[in-house]
Amino acid sequence: MLKFHDLLDNAKCYEQLRGLRWPEGICCPRCGSDHVTRQGRDETERDKQRYYCKGCQRRFGDLSLSVFSGHHQPLKIWMHCLYLLSLNLSNRQIAHEPDLNESDIYAMAQQLREAVVEKKPVVTLTGEVECDEVYVVAGHKGRPDAVKKSPARTA
Ligand SMILES: [Zn+2]
Repeated sequence: MLKFHDLLDNAKCYEQLRGLRWPEGICCPRCGSDHVTRQGRDETERDKQRYYCKGCQRRFGDLSLSVFSGHHQPLKIWMHCLYLLSLNLSNRQIAHEPDLNESDIYAMAQQLREAVVEKKPVVTLTGEVECDEVYVVAGHKGRPDAVKKSPARTA
């Protein structure tokens, strides 16, 4: 069976990511320095570039300190996960996607959702602000007459 992420080119996913993350050129995610040298490729994922920052003298990779860090999954699996999120599926539904590691995918989907919430700009209210109230009945405990079914209608 053909898997969705097999249709994705992992190397191109990384190229796109680098272009979006560092449009002005690679810079260190920790100190922001652009005095960065390439340090070969990741051993487990050849498409992932590693770097060395001369500013803080630390190493980093394409995914370091990004929303995609912390799980050792190919970037194309992250893209697959993003695609499923865009379909408005729940984390549970995404985790049940065939051919993906259920616990990893669940955690990755959760991580992506949290990142979206963190990136949401703070709302600043200005001018005249109005606010309405809404009451929602949470239950009818102690009021059985409120949930009693009405007699069936006859046509
Ligand atoms: Zn640095």
